[in-house]
Amino acid sequence: MDLGLEGKVALVTAASKGLGRASALALAAEGASVAICARGEEALRSTENDLGENALALPMDVTEPDAPARLVEATIERFGRLDVLVANAGGPPPGRALEPDDAAFEAALNANLLTSIRLVRAALPHMRERGWGRICLITSVSVKQPLPDLTLSNTARTGLWGWAKTAAADLRPEGITLNLACPGTHATDRVKETGHSKAQMGDPADFGKVVAFLCSEPANYISGAALQIDGASSMGLL
Ligand code: NAP
Repeated sequence: MDLGLEGKVALVTAASKGLGRASALALAAEGASVAICARGEEALRSTENDLGENALALPMDVTEPDAPARLVEATIERFGRLDVLVANAGGPPPGRALEPDDAAFEAALNANLLTSIRLVRAALPHMRERGWGRICLITSVSVKQPLPDLTLSNTARTGLWGWAKTAAADLRPEGITLNLACPGTHATDRVKETGHSKAQMGDPADFGKVVAFLCSEPANYISGAALQIDGASSMGLL
């Protein structure tokens, strides 16, 4: 199947490792030019190298309020257009419902809700220019079924899902789709550290290919969806 991504330009944030990296690699394999960001420069440069010639590494903390606009600006400066946004950021720490203080909630809402909204805001004018755009927000299966002890993730990501559903409907007449990719348990550095058995984990490369499909031409009628990629591990019916 031709995903229609040849010649398109994508920005994938938090993408030197794990699911962001896998998404960037899958988009590049389909012929897209890809800009990526992360804080640590070594892994970022290594992923830029793996992405091939049409890649741009931007060392930046995506959760800084001015980072989204700067990332989009740098992508436009290098590639002249922006068609695809994959918004990702690191996950918040675990904790039971009443453990996090206000500062912890504010940090999680900034990283896992506001950052995605800022990225969409910054990317949209360039998608509107061409009447075509694909936005995929990497979240978690916690938007379908809150996960025990992941209070901050459950709270911020369901808030983002509510916003995304609203935004997808608003963008419908403009040729721009907006979806959530919701990972279950994938074998990334973050998860390997938690001691999950590898046999129960998904392959980040497969996750990346699903993201590339959601950002493709043939996925033009998929919008406002939250797709879990979790090997049937969550039991929510919606
Ligand atoms: P990971 O393997 O730890 O990779 C995280 C990537 O994001 C790294 O490249 C990291 O680079 C970058 N990053 C983190 N914070 C950043 C920031 N503030 N600014 C810029 N880049 C940043 O994580 P992952 O497993 O791929 O998870 C990605 C997202 O999916 C997280 O939000 C996670 O909670 C969520 N998730 C993952 C799973 C899973 O099974 N893996 C399941 C559910 C949800 P630097 O540290 O150098 O910045």
